[in-house]
Amino acid sequence: TDSGNNLYRVVLIGETGVGKSTLTSIFAGLQNNLENWGVLGEDTYERTITVDGEGATLVVMDTWENKDEDNWKQNHCMLIGDAYLIVYSITDRASFEKASELRIQLRRTRQAEDIPIILVGNKCDLVRCREVSVAEGRSCAVVFDCKFIETSAAVQHNVQELFEGIVRQVRLRRDSK
Ligand code: GDP
Ligand code: MG
Repeated sequence: TDSGNNLYRVVLIGETGVGKSTLTSIFAGLQNNLENWGVLGEDTYERTITVDGEGATLVVMDTWENKDEDNWKQNHCMLIGDAYLIVYSITDRASFEKASELRIQLRRTRQAEDIPIILVGNKCDLVRCREVSVAEGRSCAVVFDCKFIETSAAVQHNVQELFEGIVRQVRLRRDSK
């Protein structure tokens, strides 16, 4: 990806059912018009947003679910992202544990790189079904060495902040080079 054009490939990974596709589509609908969107493929979208006064084009890839039997696509996902959103559901502890597996897999695949990652605890509207506390999410992110945010795609809480946040994480690394 050409960082000179502020084009960032953002890949969502996480257990099935945690809300990756819903988060992606909410982000896609924020401007209520699709003119700024280019559909690049079945699950890949491009949109330009302004963050802190500077434009950034996000290529958002919600391709994780389409598994090939040989896992080719998942390995590909691990290789192509400029940044990752590791998503779990706060109502599903197994998905939280899966997030740790994915973090380890990502670290193995991209060993020498300092990849921007946000750990995303989605479905925070479902307070009565919560299985993973905010404190657990936060301390997991410390271990992961990444940012943490809780979101709700259902009530559109922190979704825009999430995508702005990942742009800021990419820029922090860019600007420190
Ligand atoms: P994916 O498999 O990770 O892409 O998950 P989906 O986006 O398909 O979402 C799985 C289910 O969870 C769907 O029924 C969504 O409507 C629901 N869902 C997604 N995000 C939220 C959320 O923030 N809150 C609630 N209550 N439901 C959600
Ligand atoms: Mg999906």
